[in-house]
Amino acid sequence: MPTQAPSENAKQEENIAFKVPDKGVFVSEYNEQIFRATRMPETVKILDTTLRDGEQTPNVALSIDDKLKIAQALDELGVDIIEAGFPVNSEGEAEAVKRIAAAGLKSEVCGLCRASKLDIDAALTCDVDSIHIFLATSKVHLEKKLKISRGEAVEKAVTAVQYGKDHGLIVEFSCEDGTRTDLEFLNTVHKAIEEAGVDRIDIPDTVGVMTPQAMMQFVSEIKKTTKVPLAVHCHDDFGLSVANSLAGILGGAEEVHCTINGLGERAGNAALEEVVMGLQAFYGIKTRINTRKMAFVSRLVSQLTGIAVQPNKAIVGENAFSHEAGIHVHGVLSESSTYEPMRPEIVGKERVFVVGKHSGVHAVQNKLKEYGLDLTGDQLKEVVARIKKYAESGKKLDDAELLAVAYDEISEEKEPVIRLEEFTVFTGLNFTPTATVVLNIDGDVRRASETGVGPIDASLSAIRTAVSKNIVLKQYRLEAITGGSNALCEVTVKLGDCEDSQLLALGKSVGSDIVTTSVDATVEALNRLWMHKLGANGDKVKRKAY
Ligand code: MN
Repeated sequence: MPTQAPSENAKQEENIAFKVPDKGVFVSEYNEQIFRATRMPETVKILDTTLRDGEQTPNVALSIDDKLKIAQALDELGVDIIEAGFPVNSEGEAEAVKRIAAAGLKSEVCGLCRASKLDIDAALTCDVDSIHIFLATSKVHLEKKLKISRGEAVEKAVTAVQYGKDHGLIVEFSCEDGTRTDLEFLNTVHKAIEEAGVDRIDIPDTVGVMTPQAMMQFVSEIKKTTKVPLAVHCHDDFGLSVANSLAGILGGAEEVHCTINGLGERAGNAALEEVVMGLQAFYGIKTRINTRKMAFVSRLVSQLTGIAVQPNKAIVGENAFSHEAGIHVHGVLSESSTYEPMRPEIVGKERVFVVGKHSGVHAVQNKLKEYGLDLTGDQLKEVVARIKKYAESGKKLDDAELLAVAYDEISEEKEPVIRLEEFTVFTGLNFTPTATVVLNIDGDVRRASETGVGPIDASLSAIRTAVSKNIVLKQYRLEAITGGSNALCEVTVKLGDCEDSQLLALGKSVGSDIVTTSVDATVEALNRLWMHKLGANGDKVKRKAY
């Protein structure tokens, strides 16, 4: 998993400027005809509320440092406004907002406030550029939650907006639960706050109860009586937040509230990545977002919040550009637009071919090529048949297992060349872990001892010393299969050769002792690497790979 944003900028301009349907997005022509007939803004502002509504996701709590990291990533991503938090909520929250406001970001930094001086003062202390004031206006919220009259609500709203403007802030205002507020009263509040100098008005679908058709109509009605720019803030309770956000734009809004990965209260908010790609791909509407950084920011937010992105999520999900079915893999390899509506690099992703039950020869061939293996047509057919057989018995093969099948198919050498004859390891407290291995490499007995930070490290070092220092450990994965201290573990080891980057081999072993299981997996990988280095069928004369 990359931990750094891709080091590019060169394509940024082209990316921001791209129009339907060229530059790697392949939407339907029918869609295009419809959108050309619709009135839309040229650009849309993105307010990202990952750090506010997103942080209100159940079980999410971010440290101040994490918030700062996310804010910096959002700034680089190109969001126009960062809603950094709710300063009055706690000292820690205020501190985070303060540090984000002081970080010298290009984005406007905004603090959330209720319609009260206390809240606005807290935001002022943080030195934010703007505040987002919210006050519920629907009947149920006024009567059951706030217990105030409509008249009192208007007064509170106006007083708060005036207070913010008197202190030199940019003020955005939300009538909370706006989509369940009657339109006439909503317009009354909007008119009053416009007179008080509000800069932007947001229309929140607080509990996600609109349809796209209704949202478009609702926003266009509001647009008739307001002068300041409108925003929409949609929740995903019915899975319509992105559709409703796009509909809000078609209705005349010029700003969208979104979160990375669609985090947010309950079912979440509209996902930034989906809204931005939807605006660009379907309507040719530009935003300042550098879409090539979206996958990176998505991963960062997922890591820091601990909320995994569902694999089948649009745009940034692990499967968004993965192909398994044989027909699809064949299609994508010939021309990606057959089964991909956009090129993965546009959103910072890579295309992945997964080998499984639905795979055909092309996917398997492609996957084996990643490991430098070139099989004949007959061999490939045999490997595919075996994979399907495994899959039908409910077993999904990972890369290591696929390679094991492939090697078994191509190798005449059924016995391993390298065998582990002896293995000892010592470890303990205040003791340097030390391992000794004796390997028999086709009759040549090699012995080596090494120390390491732990018993596995010492063992793998000893194996390298015995065979060759050119061998590098590329990946080590340990998984517990069952629970308890007597659990079975599964170890996957990926080895490479520092002189030949094409040489890669995987080994996998299951056992109850993590050290011996690791050693077994390594010896298995080593045998494959050895065979690989000699050529798949082994060089009968020149038997020494290392
Ligand atoms: Mn919300």
